[in-house]
Amino acid sequence: MSLRVGIDLDGVVANFKSAFETAASEAGVPLPAGDAERASVDPLSSRDVKRIWDFVKRTPNWWVRLAPYEPAQIIRLYETARRLRWEVVFMTRRPSTAGDPVQFQSQWWLEQQGFFYPAVLTVPGSRGELANALRLDVVVDDQIHNCVDVISASTAKAVLLHREARDPAVDEHAVSRGIGVVGSLEEALDVLHHLHGALRERRGRLQRLADWFVTPPKVEALPTVPDRDRVTLRDDGQ
Ligand SMILES: [Mg+2]
Repeated sequence: MSLRVGIDLDGVVANFKSAFETAASEAGVPLPAGDAERASVDPLSSRDVKRIWDFVKRTPNWWVRLAPYEPAQIIRLYETARRLRWEVVFMTRRPSTAGDPVQFQSQWWLEQQGFFYPAVLTVPGSRGELANALRLDVVVDDQIHNCVDVISASTAKAVLLHREARDPAVDEHAVSRGIGVVGSLEEALDVLHHLHGALRERRGRLQRLADWFVTPPKVEALPTVPDRDRVTLRDDGQ
C-alpha cells in the first residue's frame, strides 16, 4: 500500500520568512534595526503586519516569488514518490493574492522546482481533520500546533521541521507526544523513507508513541535531475 504523505508548504519547502521580509521593505515597513538577518514578523506592530499583507495581496502572483529552502530535496521528494509509489499532498493556508488562485500559484511553483503534477490543497481549517479525511500516514509541518492537531485528530504521524535555533523544550514536548523532530527537509525525507519500510512490514500494528521515529540510516543518493516525465509518459503510450 502506498505511503500517504502530507507536506506543508511554507517553512517546509518554501522560504516564506525571507519573502515576507522582502515584502516588508517593498511596502516601506522598516524591520527592526541592526538585526535584519534574524528579524521575524513578531516585533512588528499589527498595523505594520497588516501593511505588509496588504502589499502581498495586491502583488500579482506573489506566492511564486518564494525561494525553495532545499531545491534538491524537492526533486528527491518527487523522485522518491514516483519510485516508491507514495501519494503526496501539499497543504497550505496561504491567503489569496492578485493574479492566479493560490492553488495554481503553488502548483506552478512546485513544478518549477521539479515536482510535477503536484496536488495542492488550500485549506484554512484544521490540519488534523484534513489528515484524517485524506487518511494520511504522515504529515511534515513546521508548526508544533499543526503537528499536535494532526496526531490528535487522525491516525497520521507528524514530523515537526524546525529549521532555526531549536528550543530543546519544544523538541522534548514534541517527542514526548510521539511527534518526530527534524532540522531539514532532507532529514524529514530520511524519516519518511524509514516509515515507508516500517509500514510495509507492520501496518496496523505500528505504535504511535513507541519506535516509529528513529534516526534512519542514510539512503543511497538519488539522481538530482528529474526524468522528462511528460515525454516518458507519452512514449509509454499512457
Ligand atoms: Mg508552515
